[in-house]
Amino acid sequence: MECKKDPKEVLRQEVLASSNLESFFHQLIKDNGGLEARDIQEFMADYVIGHSTTDTLVDELDLEHIRCCSECGSPMYEGFCIENGAEYYCSEECLHKHLSEEEYNDLYDDGKGESYWTSWLD
Ligand SMILES: [Zn+2]
Repeated sequence: MECKKDPKEVLRQEVLASSNLESFFHQLIKDNGGLEARDIQEFMADYVIGHSTTDTLVDELDLEHIRCCSECGSPMYEGFCIENGAEYYCSEECLHKHLSEEEYNDLYDDGKGESYWTSWLD
């Protein structure tokens, strides 16, 4: 089966490669009465996300609701917290690369331990 490309991603690649991008960008800014603080904020957010690891973002920006998986580096808002934050794992798959079911259950200790599954969203 052929792997379908996302048209939005193809659009983005073409826009990125266009030699008119910069002049059109400046034209649009002019037409819209200048860059708004909100736009700059969004550019900065996209830029730092594109040029940084989740790990670094969490540290540098004091992110409250995001942790970084110690195994795969993915951002996570829920998952395994091991020994009060010494490590975080986004999934059982990542968890079990470091701890067996039995080792985890020992740390979890029926909810009395400092290792558990949780959500940082609320
Ligand atoms: Zn992971």
